[in-house]
Amino acid sequence: MTTAEKPRSVAIVGAGPVGALMAVYLANRGWNVHVYETRPDMRLPENKAKIQNRSINLALSTRGLTALKGTGLALDELIMKSGLPMRGRMLHIGNEGHLVSQDYGVHGECINSVDRAKLNEDLITAAEELNNVKVSFNLTLKRADLDKGTLTLENKETKEIVKAHADLIIGCDGAYSSVRISLMRYVRLDFEQEYIPHGYCELSIPAKVGADGKPEFAMDPEHLHIWPRHKFMMIALPNPDKSFTVTLFMPFANFEMIHNEGDLLNFFEQYFADAIKLMGKDLLIKEYFKNPKGSLVMVRANPYHYKDRCIILGDAAHSMVPFYGQGMNCGFEDVRVLDSLFSEFNVKSTQEGKADNSLALALEAYTDRRAKDIKAICELALYNYTEMRHGVTSPVYLMRKKVETW
Ligand code: FAD
Repeated sequence: MTTAEKPRSVAIVGAGPVGALMAVYLANRGWNVHVYETRPDMRLPENKAKIQNRSINLALSTRGLTALKGTGLALDELIMKSGLPMRGRMLHIGNEGHLVSQDYGVHGECINSVDRAKLNEDLITAAEELNNVKVSFNLTLKRADLDKGTLTLENKETKEIVKAHADLIIGCDGAYSSVRISLMRYVRLDFEQEYIPHGYCELSIPAKVGADGKPEFAMDPEHLHIWPRHKFMMIALPNPDKSFTVTLFMPFANFEMIHNEGDLLNFFEQYFADAIKLMGKDLLIKEYFKNPKGSLVMVRANPYHYKDRCIILGDAAHSMVPFYGQGMNCGFEDVRVLDSLFSEFNVKSTQEGKADNSLALALEAYTDRRAKDIKAICELALYNYTEMRHGVTSPVYLMRKKVETW
């Protein structure tokens, strides 16, 4: 680099999984990266309790692992150190909970249960370890002037207004993205937001005490467990501490019919009797009434970029329902695809003082090439809810699958 060439700067808004991974990729390319995150630093013990995560664990698939590996920093291996491979889905059929295993692939393909918070923390740490990345917490983007490259942020604690500047602004700030709102003022952005009538509530199945007194899984940990009940369903993913995180998905109308402990136990006895034994009545009651009932939103936007000034990735561009387990995985793929376009269009990490539209072309190619894939995966995600809660119980389907005992 000559003295006249200075590194390009990028402001990444949002240090969720996608923003943190994008920071690593661009730092690897030599950009000066500044990540702005509205939440406090969740790695600090005093902040843990302040943060309400959407789900405790999530499924990391090959799509996501490929993007993690693409950093060249073995981030896939780092995350998988505590990941639990799930080689298939285990159906809990009928109220007696007959177990039917359906493998995900004939060659032992797996999806992996990972701790969401740990994954996010590990990615932020990996980004911060690179000397051209800075992560600032407690800063909320209020608005961005994309032509000037200025960001107006508010310190959540002091309410102080902070101004920042960057050559490129990347919105990785989730489904309710502020960068997307700014982007709408600059391009004819088609935008759609839709809530499905179903919501979710997280519960858990604790570890049981094994014969040797040590904790043991109460169900087969190599499966994603599903209780398909046609109009709704419950799922469970294993955790390293041998517990399972359980998610009950059902229409809000059904949640609203459960007013008290009696209603809850009647409902569970009618539909998930085998799960009551695994959860324990007291824990079920405590968690059901304590835990929030989350909503599920779908966001579609197009285009994703503005000139060479701004792009949105991850949930900011395409929030999808979680039934295909691909929301974050797809966001990771966004990062990998964008990075590959930087190579294809030979986007330089320095400004050389002469006109160079390679970045604008790369961002434009991203919108052109990515839109169809994103549309498809969002549709598959919605379709897979019907598959998981109903389709998997088709008699023809069940006959071909192995019945398991545990
Ligand atoms: P987010 O995770 O939403 O991160 C956005 C970040 O931006 C946050 O840290 C936020 O604090 C910050 N931010 C927001 N606004 C601002 C602002 N104005 N200024 C500064 N910072 C801001 N996906 C999977 O791949 N597999 C699964 O198994 C899976 N399971 C799921 C289960 C449930 C119940 C739900 C709801 C989702 C699931 N998902 C799953 C989807 C996954 O959670 C999302 O796709 C993923 O979190 C998107 O990552 P992101 O970084 O784009 O956005």
